[in-house]
Amino acid sequence: MTIESPDTDADAGSRVVSCTLCGRPDGSEPIHGIGARMRRDQVCYSCDWWRTCRRYRTLGDRDDDGRRIVRAGGRHYMTWTPEQGPPPEIGESSAGPGTLYYVLLDDPTATVIESGPYWMMGSIPDSLRDVLPDNARIVREPARGAR
Ligand SMILES: [Zn+2]
Repeated sequence: MTIESPDTDADAGSRVVSCTLCGRPDGSEPIHGIGARMRRDQVCYSCDWWRTCRRYRTLGDRDDDGRRIVRAGGRHYMTWTPEQGPPPEIGESSAGPGTLYYVLLDDPTATVIESGPYWMMGSIPDSLRDVLPDNARIVREPARGAR
């Protein structure tokens, strides 16, 4: 995910007037360091978020640094190796403490993959389920108390 540094977003906190993608007037959600991009593109926070997630799909379900994207049960996750580390926009503290066990849907061997730390990025809106279809199936949920 490309995130502009909050420190360089001189107009942080200013609002997009009306989203050019969904038409929704914005103004209720905080803009976390991406205000300049949102203003440039005139998109709301939600559309900016899911537009970024759609871009991951075009990158082969990876982010720019190779972190894997897992979509399962309509939820959008990012996982990473210890070498990759968490994406800079969330930092270590936001990573789920549990582990996802999943099978990629296009893997004919149905090998169970054990994620490292992961980030549950949100539930994919119904309107985007066609463009962000599941690419995996969770085979074991994180332990209770974990995210
Ligand atoms: Zn929008």
